Amino acid sequence: MDKDIRMDHNIMEYLLAELKHPGKPVQDICRLPGTALTLEEYGRKAAIQMRRFLDEMPGGFLIYHADGDEEIIYANKALLRIFCCSSLEEFRKLTGNSFQGIVYPDDLEEVEESIRTQIARNKYDLDYVEYRIVTKEGSIRYVEDYGHFIRSQSMGNVFYVFIGDATEKRKQQKKEERQTQQEYFQQLEMIEGLSIDYESIFYADLDADRIRAYRMSERIAEQFVQEGREQKYTGFDTGYIDRWVHPDDRELVRRTTDPDYIRKNLANKKSMHICYRIYRDDKPAYLQLRIVNIGSSEHISQIMIGYRNIDDEILKEMERNRILEEALSDAQLANQAKNIFLSNMSHDIRTPMNGIVGYAVLAKNHIDDKEKLMEYLNMITSSSDVLLQLLNNIFEVVGIDSEQIHLEENKCNLVEMLSNIRTAMSLRAEEKDIEILLDVSKVEHSLVYGDQNKISQVILYMIDNAIKYTNVNGKIHISAAEQPMPVRDRAVYQFVVEDNGIGISKEFLKRIFEPFEREKSTTIGGVYGTGLGLTIAKKIVEMMDGSIDIDSTVGVGSKFTVTLCFRLQEEGDACNRANVTDPGAGRKAILMVDDNEINLEIGVELLKDAGYFVETATDGQIAVEKVKNSKPGTFGLVLMDLQMPIMNGFDAAKAIRSLPEPELANIPIVALSANALKEDKKMALNSGMNEHLPKPIDIDQLYELVHQILNDV
Ligand code: ADP
Repeated sequence: MDKDIRMDHNIMEYLLAELKHPGKPVQDICRLPGTALTLEEYGRKAAIQMRRFLDEMPGGFLIYHADGDEEIIYANKALLRIFCCSSLEEFRKLTGNSFQGIVYPDDLEEVEESIRTQIARNKYDLDYVEYRIVTKEGSIRYVEDYGHFIRSQSMGNVFYVFIGDATEKRKQQKKEERQTQQEYFQQLEMIEGLSIDYESIFYADLDADRIRAYRMSERIAEQFVQEGREQKYTGFDTGYIDRWVHPDDRELVRRTTDPDYIRKNLANKKSMHICYRIYRDDKPAYLQLRIVNIGSSEHISQIMIGYRNIDDEILKEMERNRILEEALSDAQLANQAKNIFLSNMSHDIRTPMNGIVGYAVLAKNHIDDKEKLMEYLNMITSSSDVLLQLLNNIFEVVGIDSEQIHLEENKCNLVEMLSNIRTAMSLRAEEKDIEILLDVSKVEHSLVYGDQNKISQVILYMIDNAIKYTNVNGKIHISAAEQPMPVRDRAVYQFVVEDNGIGISKEFLKRIFEPFEREKSTTIGGVYGTGLGLTIAKKIVEMMDGSIDIDSTVGVGSKFTVTLCFRLQEEGDACNRANVTDPGAGRKAILMVDDNEINLEIGVELLKDAGYFVETATDGQIAVEKVKNSKPGTFGLVLMDLQMPIMNGFDAAKAIRSLPEPELANIPIVALSANALKEDKKMALNSGMNEHLPKPIDIDQLYELVHQILNDV
């Protein structure tokens, strides 16, 4: 036994020596005790030693016949452990003692095929396969199999196989694969989310001349093999371009997907894009083609190509541009109109101003010639009227535009109103020998509720124009016609002002209501105007929910029709405007408050002329004192300027309203203000005043108001 161990030991020594110094005689390396064994005995001992070595080897080792039933010749202990067998017998039983019994049946065919192919190809007769096995306990494990095909003299063809348990490694691999796959899916989801707008997405490798579709629109799909499959990049979009892309954009799209062009363009940027048109339902639609470099920036080959429908965006942008263009052209037109207005204004203001200045000089020069003086003063008055009208018009437009003018609903008599207007205008018409005819026969209800001042104003603008733009000996027809409405207490009225004047061109009719617009022919003719009358008229009519229609022919005449709806007054509820200019008996005094002496003087004179008794105050404080110290009933009205030193009109009104004596505290107060805008009026009413009259004072309006108030008291 001792000897055997020593023998074995010797064999191991030989083996180690051979492994370290292949081919060298062992005596040259180390000195071993001599042996009396024959060569055969020695070979046998070596084989036993080798088997023991293989038996104890930590990895699995197997030898089986390569032919026939692939019978197992040898299996080491480590292999038995992999199969959970405690003895070779158990292992042989489990596997049927054949390699085929080792491999899990589902894997067998593939494994054998793989081994065959590998051995046939490998010049060292080596193979490597992985497969599943079933252990004695029934569990499935993965193994790695390193095989070596050997032609043995005694045993025929055999396989030496090293087998290792790869289950844990495999599990780890699977885990990593799952993780990678999960990350991959997450990435895909992200890309999917980000690329939701893209109807087609491709990955292409320009070097390999390959392209793969990830998503395709129906249009591109027609030309493509299949989603997820690769095809040649060259010409991948030719069919699509020829069939779908707008002829004008074909060259652009073709060039953009050309590999050389892409390489050049992506040389120093990550992505590029173009917009082009396709035909969809025979209408052009807009698409964007975007190419992104997803590979190295030094050498461009791997790219993503996306096609996105941007029709909506383009249409919105086009709409935006259209609005901008319109706004620009509106602004330009407005600017043009403003310039025209300014040049008109400077002319229109200068003319009456020259008149005023010139006639004032003449008046001074002829101060003793009463007749001439009267003539010059008349000229000054008419020039002032022109100026005033101009200013009023401007205020009116500004007021309407900033919604500072509102409608009032009073009782009014339409027939009477028209007749008054006609009377008022006839003088001017007579100057040009123009006849004005009025027809109110079709008005059944003359008494309505409405803003009579504003209605008159609109009709006055029409008649004024008719006179201005009708040649001498012309004719103007004014008519009103009532049309009943289904609602019992309402009626629609059509007021028509028709002339046989110069007429209006079709072109100009489109702009006639624009502020400051005047037709060339009228400006050339030197007829005075601001181009604001119809603007104001239209705005007022619109405020009343009515309309203005114009029918005109150049050289024949114009017909303006204003349509308005009014609430009818009840029977017997007449709007009596007779004697409006009757100043009345002047039972009570008027307190006129103004810091401007000229204004005060004119006001006092006018009121005195009309028979009223007038007291004055030059600021709010004096006014309050005068009222406070007066006997109740002395003052029937206070005419209050607003902007004054010491105490303004608002504060004075408030102070009067808070006087202890009720009759004094309730004296009617009317504001007189150069600021005709709504805000002033509102403030005046808020501070307790009853009415508001704009300056310069309209005498008739003042008389009417004074008369109303003093008669009412
Ligand atoms: P204007 O102060 O210039 O009369 P409007 O706004 O009242 O301003 O009218 C605008 C322009 O419309 C006038 O300048 C004139 O060219 C034209 N127009 C208005 N009414 C008539 C009409 N009855 N006949 C001919 N042209 C008219």
